[in-house]
Amino acid sequence: MAQSEKSLVEDKPGQVCGHFHCTQCGACCSHLEAFGGVYADLDNGQGVCRYYDPITRLCTCYEKRPLKCRVDDSYEQIFKSQMSYDEFIQLTVEGCERLQQLPDKFKAKQSKDKQSKQP
Ligand code: SF4
Ligand code: SF4
Repeated sequence: MAQSEKSLVEDKPGQVCGHFHCTQCGACCSHLEAFGGVYADLDNGQGVCRYYDPITRLCTCYEKRPLKCRVDDSYEQIFKSQMSYDEFIQLTVEGCERLQQLPDKFKAKQSKDKQSKQP
């Protein structure tokens, strides 16, 4: 998740953060249903965070995003007692890879919109 933007897993999208590199793909912020209710308070009803901008693919509340959207902070405050930092980052990367296999909700919508505008 990004500057004035977005994930669940990243700290500074597009930047190397510890061992984790967020590509700003937006898969996490647009598939909140994949997190089993953890992000229900942010869900716009379609599995997309209400703070996610599908055009820029960034988080619009990046500086004030919740703890659960901050990789390093959530490790320090929640997961540190359960696993090493390397294990946490490994799980985070694996989670990103799984999320990236899901359909791109906005790509599909943009394509549909384009088709409906054709004569
Ligand atoms: S607040 Fe929403 S858009 Fe921002 S990082 Fe968290 S899930 Fe993504
Ligand atoms: S799924 Fe992973 S790589 Fe993609 S935006 Fe979210 S944290 Fe970044």
